[in-house]
Amino acid sequence: MEIKVELTKTPKAKPQDETKLGFGHIFTDHMFAMNYDTGKGWHDARIVPYGEISLSPAAMCLHYGQEIFEGLKAYRRADGKIQLFRPDENYKRLNNSARRMVIPEIDEEFMIEATKKLVSIEKDWVPHTDGAALYIRPFIFATDPYVGVRPADHYLFLIILSPSGAYYSTGLNPVKIYVENNYVRAVRGGTGFAKTAANYAISLKGQEEAHEQDYEQVLWLDGVERKYIEEVGSMNIFFVIDGEVITPELQGSVLPGITRKSALEVCKSKGIKATERRITIQEVADAYDAGKLDEVFGTGTAAVISPVGHLKWGDKIMTINNNEIGPISQMLYDTMTGIQWGKIEDTFGWTTPIE
Ligand SMILES: *Cc1c(COP(=O)(O)O)cnc(C)c1O
Repeated sequence: MEIKVELTKTPKAKPQDETKLGFGHIFTDHMFAMNYDTGKGWHDARIVPYGEISLSPAAMCLHYGQEIFEGLKAYRRADGKIQLFRPDENYKRLNNSARRMVIPEIDEEFMIEATKKLVSIEKDWVPHTDGAALYIRPFIFATDPYVGVRPADHYLFLIILSPSGAYYSTGLNPVKIYVENNYVRAVRGGTGFAKTAANYAISLKGQEEAHEQDYEQVLWLDGVERKYIEEVGSMNIFFVIDGEVITPELQGSVLPGITRKSALEVCKSKGIKATERRITIQEVADAYDAGKLDEVFGTGTAAVISPVGHLKWGDKIMTINNNEIGPISQMLYDTMTGIQWGKIEDTFGWTTPIE
């Protein structure tokens, strides 16, 4: 499919101070858009000036939440070239989310091409500062003006871009995490494995209560027995117990993170034992009491590796590795960011250059 391009006549000034970018506030000059209509399929692929969209107040996405999204980044390498990290995995996952939410799939190669073309047009927006990158947000939502419940017949697929600052401006600071005992995020058979807006909407209340107690993020337990660990707000979770790296297995309620998958592959390539299995919060607390809980960290595109310094479960507060980043967390961070920013050789074949 051909991608039409309409360039803006009023380009915005690029942010001058890249240390103040933050996350998700600033958007570039252009976006990718494509429509779907039943009978016609996906059509009218185009890159147009970034701007507001008009939507019927009855648009189905606003009422029943038929929406899916992705999140990836374009990195400026040390040699000045720009690259993506495993975009094939993001678009495979978008189609997986699409199937769960009864949204029509899109050819994965085409979505990668569209992303490359958009980023290439916006290449001057890719930050130059170490650790900063251009965040890419592809998303699809239902637009039919109809206040009834059924899968829609009309969808819009957009890709927008946002320059984002270094996640750790002052080094890898460990986060404080709180084990959620009241609310649940997902159950097997539900939508936990899909990247869909609803999963986030229902997580806000727990997140708010964690903030009230001065904790940054929530660690979710399984929705049935409330004892198996699932994941953190927007990150997967890893434990290092007695030298073994453990992360909860994917059983339908955990989001299959690409950083999670990459971290497991890096561990295996370095000969570190890494296991995907069910793990209870009790097992983690017991390991802590036995002095065997070496490290805890989250993984996700935003932070890459986020060491956990404090873990609160009911009245029990666990301080992990003296609230300092541990050796496996540091190794994973250095390896993955090294590949992403082109400082070390990509022996895994994970990067895709933007021409
Ligand atoms: C996106 C996301 C992650 C992390 O996935 P990555 O592909 O590593 O960025 C983890 N948990 C949830 C709920 C997510 O939405």
